[in-house]
Amino acid sequence: IVNCEPLKELVRTVPDFPKPGILFYDITTLLKDKVGMAQLIDAFAAYYIDKDIDLVLGIEARGFIFGPALAYRLNAGFVPVRKPKKLPAATAKVSYDLEYGTDSLEIHLDAIQPGQRVVIVDDLLATGGTMQATVKLVRQLGGEIAGIGFAIELDFLKGRAKFQEYDVLSLLHYD
Ligand code: IMP
Repeated sequence: IVNCEPLKELVRTVPDFPKPGILFYDITTLLKDKVGMAQLIDAFAAYYIDKDIDLVLGIEARGFIFGPALAYRLNAGFVPVRKPKKLPAATAKVSYDLEYGTDSLEIHLDAIQPGQRVVIVDDLLATGGTMQATVKLVRQLGGEIAGIGFAIELDFLKGRAKFQEYDVLSLLHYD
């Protein structure tokens, strides 16, 4: 695995966003850096290049930023996992709990053929609820989850525990 720890200098932390008391990890400052952007995609690509990946799934919205770049490097397709009512054709839908209330994610029913090897990416692993919902969607469609990738993992929230049966890669860790 490529050592990405120096890239943490390019991640901006914003206090009290989106709500008071929350420290937000902002990757836009990493993405706009030409060396940082290249190293981020290179690190993901190096990890997945020999894993025979058919599809990269990105979770709306920040999984859409680097998911397609990774898909291109892997010679794989890209599939968006979206918030409700955004996808035009028939979808599978999963709801998941938030701190207050619930949210849902959808995927096109024909986005994955049974047995296709899928990597799911998102910018950040916190509690893991968002990724867990996406895992359920992939399983419903019969995809094989070859990997789960995050730019950032908040280790102290222990979200990783939800994915013990999967190969989880996080490039940057915060304790
Ligand atoms: P989880 O479902 O609790 O793991 O939260 C992860 C989801 O919330 C991901 O889709 C992230 O994009 C988003 N998220 C939570 N905290 C942050 C943050 O500090 N920075 C950027 N995204 C965040």
